[in-house]
Amino acid sequence: MVKQSFSHVEHWVFDLDNTLYPPAARLFDQIEEKMITYMVQSLGLDRGAADQLRGDYWRNHGTTLAGLMADHDIDPDPFLVAVHDISLTHLEPDQALAAHIGALPGRKIVYTNGSAPYAERVLAARGLSGLFDGIFGVEHAGYRPKPERGAFERVFAQAEVDTARAAMFEDDPRNLNAPHEMGMRTVHVAPEPVAGDHIHHHTVDLTGFLGQLR
Ligand SMILES: [Mg+2]
Repeated sequence: MVKQSFSHVEHWVFDLDNTLYPPAARLFDQIEEKMITYMVQSLGLDRGAADQLRGDYWRNHGTTLAGLMADHDIDPDPFLVAVHDISLTHLEPDQALAAHIGALPGRKIVYTNGSAPYAERVLAARGLSGLFDGIFGVEHAGYRPKPERGAFERVFAQAEVDTARAAMFEDDPRNLNAPHEMGMRTVHVAPEPVAGDHIHHHTVDLTGFLGQLR
């Protein structure tokens, strides 16, 4: 049974966006609009060209920010503040999810390619504040993004995650490659499964999945 495959796990690592809330909340639509506006203002592009470049950077660099830093030497902190200035009114508290996370044995952390202050706001809106032992954003990885292995290594060193005794929950399958290589149990949280040897489990319903581990 599923519970058996997690019996060795003492460190639980959760992505934030579209993992700890359902993709139906569509927060990323708002973030993408903010990114496009930022790129229009800082690079002088029209919105169509900015959106194209945003997507190219996400595909080729892991995040839009990583591409902007590589090609345009963008200052990351003002960018992160601007793009995360979004409405969270579509998020609802999830008491069952909070109870299941609270019941997990060991240390729990959030690791997002967004910023830690943004993660704190999202967790509060989901009723998940105070459940985690650490909240890590892209700033804790020197602004290098998941899926880069070096980014995971920097964050896991600070969070004192023992990857041989850890599990990673993520909606972006790219971001499960390095955790798998590092010996973690991997859970893909998304509406549709994808093929890949680096994915141990898939679920459409994180709350239900964690309920099975109790
Ligand atoms: Mg995500």
